[in-house]
Amino acid sequence: MNIKTHQNPTCEGCTYYQAQEKNLGACHRFPPSFAGDSSPIDSHRWKFPLVSAHNWCGEFRAATLGVDLTTALTT
Ligand code: SF4
Repeated sequence: MNIKTHQNPTCEGCTYYQAQEKNLGACHRFPPSFAGDSSPIDSHRWKFPLVSAHNWCGEFRAATLGVDLTTALTT
């Protein structure tokens, strides 16, 4: 999906967005990043970036036009 072909890109409409609460979600475009070792719980040390539902970035990919990579790679 080319960003220039989408009229109003938002994280909320992106295939990589996972809503967590109203207007806030996690971006799963890339693997989680190290967030520090202050927590004794290992799963708390790696985080996906939190993004506003109304923001966007150059990695935007429209959720409605997302491709199932499992299918795409086997056909
Ligand atoms: S638009 Fe960018 S920051 Fe927002 S969810 Fe998609 S990839 Fe992540």
